[in-house]
Parts: sequence; structure tokens; C-alpha cells
Amino acid sequence: MLLLIEPLKKVIIDNRAYSGEQQNGNYFGGFCTCGGIMRQRIWVETDSSSILISECDDCWKNIALIFNSKKFAGKKEVKTLGKREFGEFLKEILSPSEVESILNKARGERYNPSSLSRAKKKLARMNLGLEEVLKVIA
Ligand SMILES: [Zn+2]
Repeated sequence: MLLLIEPLKKVIIDNRAYSGEQQNGNYFGGFCTCGGIMRQRIWVETDSSSILISECDDCWKNIALIFNSKKFAGKKEVKTLGKREFGEFLKEILSPSEVESILNKARGERYNPSSLSRAKKKLARMNLGLEEVLKVIA
């Protein structure tokens, strides 16, 4: 399962966030299981593979196609995260006090600096910046 953070256009693969190259949606990206046509959305390069995320025109399902040195190596489900789902995701990867410090910081309220600094370190380990996270949840 891959996660696509819609507001950041970043893809999370094995707990690491990658920036992708966005496509304009005009390129064919395969056929969906519903029979619909899929459009290319974003290409991501990792150390080992190139990954294309396509979206179905009909049911809006997203699927990742994985290529190893140009050879098709399999499909994976993609879970798309909007602003609200991204908040839920933060609750899974951070402790309650870390989430609270981020939310408070985003709202311009008082926050616990040591909780925020722990949250920032955890996010950085996943290749996510605190500033971009704050922008999403603000
Ligand atoms: Zn479909």
C-alpha cells in the first residue's frame, strides 16, 4: 500500500516520503478494474524503482504501477490522503502530545516546544518537513 498525500503531492513508500513529478493528466495510465481509463498523475523515483500513480476517470481509484529498470514489476493499491486523512495519518505516526503540539503551532496557539521538536524529528526521518505539514493542517 502506498500513500499519496494530495495536498503535498508526495508519495509515502515504506515510511519514506518522495516528491513526484506531476503529469498533466493527458497520458494514458492503464485500465482500471472497473473498466475505466486511467490517467497518469505522478511519477516517483526511488532508489530501486520508478513508480507511476494513475487515477481512474470513472471511479477515481488510484493505482501504483511499479517498474524496475523499465520492466513492469507489479501493481499496488494507493490510499489518497486529503487534509482530514492526513491528520489521521499524523495520529498514527506521532504521539498524542506531538500531534497536539503541531496542531497548536499550526493554529498559532501555545505549544510544547519539546513535543514539537520530537514531532519534527520523526517527520524528518520520513523525509517530511515540519513547515509543509503545518501548511496542510492549518
Ligand atoms: Zn475505475
